[in-house]
Amino acid sequence: MTRDAFVARWAAALGDRWQADAPLAPLTTFKVGGPAEFLADISSEAELRALVREASDAGIPVTPLGGGSNVLVADEGIRGVVVRLRLTDIERVDRETVRAGAGVTINGLVRWTIGRGLAGLEAWAGTPGTVGGAIRGNAHWGGQDIATRVRSVTLAARDGSIVDVPGDQMGFAYDRSRIIDTGEIVVAASFVVAEGNVEELRARARASLHYRKQTQPLAMPSAGCIFQNPSPDDSVPAGIPRSAGALIDRAGLKGLRIGGARISERHANFIVNDGGATADDIRQLIERARDEVRRRFGVELRDEVVCLGTFRHG
Ligand SMILES: Cc1cc2nc3c(=O)[nH]c(=O)nc-3n(C[C@H](O)[C@H](O)[C@H](O)COP(=O)(O)OP(=O)(O)OC[C@H]3O[C@@H](n4cnc5c(N)ncnc54)[C@H](O)[C@@H]3O)c2cc1C
Repeated sequence: MTRDAFVARWAAALGDRWQADAPLAPLTTFKVGGPAEFLADISSEAELRALVREASDAGIPVTPLGGGSNVLVADEGIRGVVVRLRLTDIERVDRETVRAGAGVTINGLVRWTIGRGLAGLEAWAGTPGTVGGAIRGNAHWGGQDIATRVRSVTLAARDGSIVDVPGDQMGFAYDRSRIIDTGEIVVAASFVVAEGNVEELRARARASLHYRKQTQPLAMPSAGCIFQNPSPDDSVPAGIPRSAGALIDRAGLKGLRIGGARISERHANFIVNDGGATADDIRQLIERARDEVRRRFGVELRDEVVCLGTFRHG
């Protein structure tokens, strides 16, 4: 299929669910970045399979976007098709399993399970984004990875084929899953749950939310933690916790600003957008923090935030 034929076919097939030159900044929590060349809202697994297969034939890149809460979109935007998965069903498969579409928000899933007295996911209350993004990056909270709750994941490969992958074959690790390497797209995930007491589950969710409010700059646009914490192989100077935020703080970088981007005073591993930031301001600040931590402590910080598109810095 040619590129023009692909674009004409999908513009006709999706109608107002297809947009050219679509602003992405409002679809991200950082509120920066340029447009998607094309933006497609996908409402079924069949549509997703056809779109990725035909895009692959036409040589057009496809980028999934969930809640946009862990991405920095370049000011020039993203080439090809950005797909948002409107796969929002949640069902109880059996006593110990809940299955959710990739487009379900983590907060929606937490509310759904708590409301039915199902324990397992309540600690993730307040985690922005969707099931798709949480699986890709193995969303973590309070030292626990969401991988510990995943029974299986339904994935679409770039040739449009679908596979059901058990959790232990997802290549989960800190901030990682196999799809970072394979480019597979999460269609749905099944989570392990257990019977629980609604009031106790609510209390645990509230405790997570409360701790977030105390420690994170939630009133400002951000993408959560910018850097991963150092791995056990990284040598961190004695007396400094093995935490990216602690290293940035000890380097004296809290409050450092480039353009409209600033390292948060509340949480040194957050960069906040003061309102007028560009993606380039944020990217420069990321590199500045990385350079400074390397120079002061000899630790190389790795990105947790996913940069989409082309950047001049970094
Ligand atoms: C205030 C704040 C607090 C946060 N706290 C936490 C926290 O406690 N723990 C934590 O782990 N993270 C946290 N984050 C980061 C973010 O919420 C998580 O990484 C979240 O899981 C990202 O999900 P998303 O749907 O927004 O993904 P997006 O930001 O939309 O995308 C992230 C990556 O996943 C890919 N992706 C999205 N959907 C799919 C899919 N269906 N299939 C394949 N790939 C896909 C995208 O292409 C991109 O590469 C926080 C962010 C903010 C803003």
